[in-house]
Amino acid sequence: MRRLRPCPKIMMKLAHLYPASMNIYGDRGNVIALRQRCRWRGIDLEVTPIEPGDAVDWASFDLAFFGGGQDSGQALIARDLLERQGPGLRAAIDDGLVLLAICGGYQLLGHYFLTHSGERLPGLGALDVHTVGGSRRLIGNSVVEADLATNINAPATVRLVGFENHSGRTYHGPGVRSLGRILVGHGDNGEDGWGGAIYRNTIGCYLHGSLLPKNPQLTDYLIRLAMRRRYGPDTDIAPLDAALELRAQETMTSRLLRI
Ligand code: GLN
Repeated sequence: MRRLRPCPKIMMKLAHLYPASMNIYGDRGNVIALRQRCRWRGIDLEVTPIEPGDAVDWASFDLAFFGGGQDSGQALIARDLLERQGPGLRAAIDDGLVLLAICGGYQLLGHYFLTHSGERLPGLGALDVHTVGGSRRLIGNSVVEADLATNINAPATVRLVGFENHSGRTYHGPGVRSLGRILVGHGDNGEDGWGGAIYRNTIGCYLHGSLLPKNPQLTDYLIRLAMRRRYGPDTDIAPLDAALELRAQETMTSRLLRI
């Protein structure tokens, strides 16, 4: 009799940074989208919320998500991020942890955020960016033409659609490359046309939305990166039907670009 070997369970682990203080404009939807698109492929994505005071083994995580927040929420967690999580999280980022950070989370991965009221929040320094708050908020729908070109099996250029609302202006240093150019909206600082920054497998940007449910190419890009890091460079993920999501994305980008 031929024995069927039990199918090994494919699993990955995601750390959700400070969901109690850093969850604005539905950013939690990014975690839901990652988990659901993993589930549809038979990948079990275990989500661990990380709150101030938690002891975290960063080497055990495949993915992380860090959402946006108000200046006051950022002030609540900045010290824990820097002092408790700092060394482990920075080492994991250098080691290729797949991390998506939106707005307030993005700002705190940089060197510092000087808020518009003059408070200086030190950041993790994992991304070579810094942020200075302005008196006028940068608000509205946005489209970023993102370069997702690597050896990753995804279209090189994707028009990501999202929504931004921030006082902070983020400036890039030479240690990051840009996620893409802003076609609609203000982007990182309203001046130089950049929309988001990348260092290794960490992406920071200002796109709320939630971002990932609206942009399945980016969701799959992150899942694929994480699967390859854990299971080897030849690993690929099954394609999924995303016709509805892509039609919604296309409708929105066309409307915003007035094509
Ligand atoms: N508090 C930050 C700012 O206003 C981040 C805002 C956000 O995450 N939406 O720039």
